[in-house]
Order: sequence, then C-alpha cells, then structure tokens
Amino acid sequence: MADRFDQHAVRHRMKLLRDTGETTLYENRDDVACPACGDPFDRVLLTERDAHSFDLDGGTLCVTREEGRLVVSMHR
Ligand SMILES: [Zn+2]
Repeated sequence: MADRFDQHAVRHRMKLLRDTGETTLYENRDDVACPACGDPFDRVLLTERDAHSFDLDGGTLCVTREEGRLVVSMHR
C-alpha cells in the first residue's frame, strides 16, 4: 500500500463533492479501499486544516495521518 492516499490515482473511481482548497471531499463510486482499514469507504475527506468537527450518525470514521494532511474516511 502506498504511504499516501493517492486521490489522483483513483480519481476516476470517485465523485468530487466539495473542494475548498484546504479540504476536498469525495464520494466513493467504485469500492476504493480505505487507507486505514482497507474496507471500501463511502466518502473521504482530505484536509490540510488542523481541526475538524464531524456529525456522526452511526457510521465508522477512520483517520489516517499523513505528512501535512489528514485523510478521514467515512463508512456507513
Ligand atoms: Zn476505514
């Protein structure tokens, strides 16, 4: 597995939902694997911000810390 989650390599398998420059949110369209647990995620948030708040409704949140960013994978 690559050291960093490479969103560009799997870009065609995900739908871009939001891009603010600092944070990017994708929806999984093709069972892209979560970098933390290996299971397909529903959405993934790539962020360079230091802090985030999330509303959880019974799903699982996986967090992978990388150099300069966080990769947050959401599973339903
Ligand atoms: Zn996961």
